[in-house]
Amino acid sequence: MAEEAVNRDVTVHDQWGQICSQLKTEVGDTAFDSWLKPLTPGTINNGTVSICVPTRFMKNWVIAHYSDRIHKIWEKKNPDIKNINFIVQNTIEDSKNLYTPTDRSLLKKISSTPAPQNLYQSGAANILNNSEAQTFGDQSLSVPLNPQFTFDNFVVGKTNEFAYAAAKKVAESRNVSFNPLFLYSGVGLGKTHLMHAIAWQIKKQDPSRNIVYLSAEKFMYKFVRALRYKDTTAFKEQFRSVDVLMVDDVQFMGGKDTTQEEFFYTFNSLIEEGRQIIISADKSPADLEGIETRLKSRLGCGLVADIHPTDFDLRIGILENKARQLGVELPTRVSEFLAQKISSNIRELEGALRRVIAHSQLLSNKEISLEMTQDVLKDMLRSFDRRTTIDEIQKKVAEHFNISVKEMQSSRRARTVARPRQIAMYLAKQLTSRSLPEIGRKFDRDHTTVMHAVRKVEELIMEDASLAENVDTLRRVLEG
Ligand code: ADP
Ligand code: MG
Repeated sequence: MAEEAVNRDVTVHDQWGQICSQLKTEVGDTAFDSWLKPLTPGTINNGTVSICVPTRFMKNWVIAHYSDRIHKIWEKKNPDIKNINFIVQNTIEDSKNLYTPTDRSLLKKISSTPAPQNLYQSGAANILNNSEAQTFGDQSLSVPLNPQFTFDNFVVGKTNEFAYAAAKKVAESRNVSFNPLFLYSGVGLGKTHLMHAIAWQIKKQDPSRNIVYLSAEKFMYKFVRALRYKDTTAFKEQFRSVDVLMVDDVQFMGGKDTTQEEFFYTFNSLIEEGRQIIISADKSPADLEGIETRLKSRLGCGLVADIHPTDFDLRIGILENKARQLGVELPTRVSEFLAQKISSNIRELEGALRRVIAHSQLLSNKEISLEMTQDVLKDMLRSFDRRTTIDEIQKKVAEHFNISVKEMQSSRRARTVARPRQIAMYLAKQLTSRSLPEIGRKFDRDHTTVMHAVRKVEELIMEDASLAENVDTLRRVLEG
């Protein structure tokens, strides 16, 4: 009782702070940092709270995924709250200019059409405008950019649409919008691709901008060398004229104190002068290991966007796009097979496709078939299989959710049993090369049930960060 009375008196900001800490535990750090942290509470008026959201896109996402929950929690804390109003408030630019027409139609497509082929932005048309890698900015500082890594070549799906939209926005804005833009994901999911794409696009719009792209390792190397030759002034000088600084894979900076300090200094002075900074890492700023707290909080103070593991539809889209670029006809059965088997990252997926294509070309353009693909990738797939078995998956998933394997195989439909069962089916599909009927048999179900489970879990992973985290943990345990 007393607590409620106190709560009613605290400011909107305090209430929001409390709501945030609850939401954070519910949705997990990743989803929280991407979607909820950027929100700022406004005022409470006649029972309506206004909350500012940086972009229209984010607003739609937050409304679709989190508004009910926010409302419920807030109501509990403060029963006067009847409504929540999300307002797009971009402090830098008119929010009307947030998205280009292409983005807008793309986002509309994404939200309105479930048909998978509409999820992709295909872009074979514009590839290879630039025939070779090019270095921008200071030659000794920047490293060459891959001409294939453009926005046109980036296939957009549910798992990366936010990072894509953020990258596009940064590339197209005349003014600095989010600073820094912090991209993070596991390996091979498109961070470097997006960074290069931003550089290509900025350069196209304004060739005079001085863009420097380098890896954190290169930054460290340069700095250590400058230290050795007692030439740190020249090192600092190099960054003074940079308009856009991109540093890839900053997790590698962990533990190197003097380099971090120098980076922090460079970072701050560029931000103060209104230059754009774009950073990538394999973890969110808060989770970076061996990075000083003040640097972490600086890294996280712009826009943090993560790329989730791929889903089946995106993998199909990427395969089709890649095959089209290479002028190769890829039968549907083959792309489905590849997309099902190779889910870890896009680099591996592309590698497998290249192997299949190379094989077919070596055998004087032998047609690509499912049998041939299975044969060519036998070793690769077998090594995936060795990682785990369906029995082991059932055992680990059951343990994780505190049910028995018997229950998992039973006909019980209670959510507490059905959900783990679906997750186990999903993981069996992902981590073994067993067919749907084979997996079904292990659960005493038919293949359509397995197919449904796989789809369901893919959907849930997008919506429910804590479930996604559970699945991810299990996957890691099983892949050992
Ligand atoms: P990361 O930097 O996150 O490790 P990369 O950007 O190097 O990953 O991507 C690995 C490979 O996958 C690259 O060849 C890249 O072009 C490709 N790739 C990643 N995401 C996409 C995407 N959405 N569409 C097309 N290709 C992609
Ligand atoms: Mg990379």
